[in-house]
Order: sequence, then C-alpha cells, then structure tokens
Amino acid sequence: MIRLSFDSAANFGNDLITAEQLIRLGARPPIVSTLCNLSRKLAIRIYKNIHQHAPKQGMLPYDTSWIVRSTANNIHASIFLGIRHDLLLLSSPADLSTCTFITAYQLYGRVIAKTPPAHNKTYQDGSQSIPLDINRAWFLSRQLDTSDIQFKTCYRCQARYLGIKNLPTPFYQCPICDVWTDRSGRRRWITVKSQMTNLKTNKTFG
Ligand SMILES: [Zn+2]
Repeated sequence: MIRLSFDSAANFGNDLITAEQLIRLGARPPIVSTLCNLSRKLAIRIYKNIHQHAPKQGMLPYDTSWIVRSTANNIHASIFLGIRHDLLLLSSPADLSTCTFITAYQLYGRVIAKTPPAHNKTYQDGSQSIPLDINRAWFLSRQLDTSDIQFKTCYRCQARYLGIKNLPTPFYQCPICDVWTDRSGRRRWITVKSQMTNLKTNKTFG
C-alpha cells in the first residue's frame, strides 16, 4: 500500500517535470494535459506559473494539409518527424510517446539553429522562434501515427520527405527537387499549374 502510494507520487512528480519541459518548449495546456495525464486546470496553472500570463485561447493547430502548403513546411515537418521516427525505432516500448516526442523536438531545434539566418525568421510573437511550433509538431505526430501522412524517399536526392496519403502526385512532391524559385527568390512547388505554364512557355524550371 505504501509502495503504491510512493509510486503514484513519483509518477505524478515525473508528469509535472515533463509538463514543465513541454510548456517551456511552447506547448499549450490542452496538449500538456493530454501528454502528461494532468487535468486541464493543473496544466493551465503550471503554464501561468512559468510564463506569468494566461495561455493563448482558441483552436490548436489543425491543418491537415500544412505539410504541402509550402516547401519550407514540408522540410521542417520531415526533419522533425524523421528524427522522431528514428528515435522510436531505438526506444523500448516504455520510452515511447511523450519522452521521445520531447527529445525529437529538442533535437529538431538544434538542427534548425544551425541553418542560415535567412531560413530562421522572426515570427508573430517577435521572438526568433523555431518554424515548426511544438503544438503543430504534436498534431503532425498524430497525423503520421494514424497514417494520414507518410514518408517517401526521393529517388533523385534520396531525401526522406512527407506526403499526404491517397492524394494525387502534387501532394507527394520532393521539397528539394520538385521546386522552382520565383522572382522574389521564394522556392515554390512545381504544381500542376506551373507545369502547364512551363509547357506553354516552353521554359523549364530547375
Ligand atoms: Zn529530391
């Protein structure tokens, strides 16, 4: 009986430590509550203690097509989920999910920190934030776990990237090879539309 009580307290303590880690990485209370088995109310309280303000209200990131909205989105999602996928292969079942998710996100942050400043923009909150927000990273993890999105390997550059399952080719383009650069320097997908333009103008984008 005493042992059980001690274990429960230890588990609760671990959940609190994990919750703090997640919140410091930018996680919002609903996600913290889900990943750490804590009540929503407690997750909000911890969030307020750490950030000294109430959490943002409104919907969590929920865009099932986010990975194909831009080549940059796809690259960031592919890096993060690729790291998480590899860590899961190395983990024992007990280590799965939350721990692996946090480690993968931290490693992703380190990879991104080494990219040229031009690719690390300042975002809405004014901070030099990581392009892939941890809340969206959580949603993407769920998308991959339910097989809504899948990894594919490019036969040209060998990159591992993500595509949306059961959709046509434009949703399965390599974010490194299947792109062209517009006049402003922005890298865009070679979509059906741009391919048609290419045919009309007889111009090939590299
Ligand atoms: Zn490629």
